[in-house]
Amino acid sequence: MSSTPILELSRVARHYREGETRLDILNGVDLQLYSGQTVALVAPSGAGKSTLLHIAGLLERPDDGEVFVAGDATSDMDDNDRTLLRRTAIGFVYQFHHLLPEFSALENVVLPQTIRGLDGREAARRALELLDYLRLGARTRHFPSELSGGEQQRVAIARAVANAPHVLLADEPTGNLDPRTAEHVFATLMTLARNTGLAALIATHNLDLADQMDRRVTLYDGRIVELA
Ligand code: ADP
Repeated sequence: MSSTPILELSRVARHYREGETRLDILNGVDLQLYSGQTVALVAPSGAGKSTLLHIAGLLERPDDGEVFVAGDATSDMDDNDRTLLRRTAIGFVYQFHHLLPEFSALENVVLPQTIRGLDGREAARRALELLDYLRLGARTRHFPSELSGGEQQRVAIARAVANAPHVLLADEPTGNLDPRTAEHVFATLMTLARNTGLAALIATHNLDLADQMDRRVTLYDGRIVELA
């Protein structure tokens, strides 16, 4: 295990105002994530999981504290640099796939790569390889509406890792799937992380799935607490 975490949150704080009251959602979050490590974030609704994932993914800035990506502090970066770093280093999977409905599975995986500047043909080659790896080789020309829920979510995973990020952040990625499909999609994620050195932080309510991950953490009083 390398000594520099690929992702580190240090004393991260985030509060929201609700009228006169201040809600301290994150209140000194410390979390270190290493390459190839899979971490389950298990906490009740409203505990701040999405907020934490947004901050970890550089989509939001914390009110205090620092997010390091591969050892580099991100708080002083301007929005442009943060966006570039996010596109190369971080992949997201959400509860709902958010695929573009008018594009095929293949095109959905090609797009983030061409946006990043990769040549279309090379992007398509990589997309086909990824979709094949996720056992979607026979579905590449299908539109999202022609795919099952599990297939849609596997395309979303392929899209999330299309630019070979170091970190995958997922917010209830199997929350919308039946238990068998959830298990299959989750197994795909685990295999991907373990075979590619990807670090994955996955918010889930599913304790069976959390048990299959390397580490389990929760949010308590706005801080990260390790679970057994
Ligand atoms: P979780 O993902 O664990 O369900 P969230 O991070 O979505 O939790 O939300 C944590 C808390 O912060 C909730 O009480 C939510 O209502 C509140 N919250 C989230 N976003 C905002 C916002 N933009 N303004 C005010 N309160 C918010």
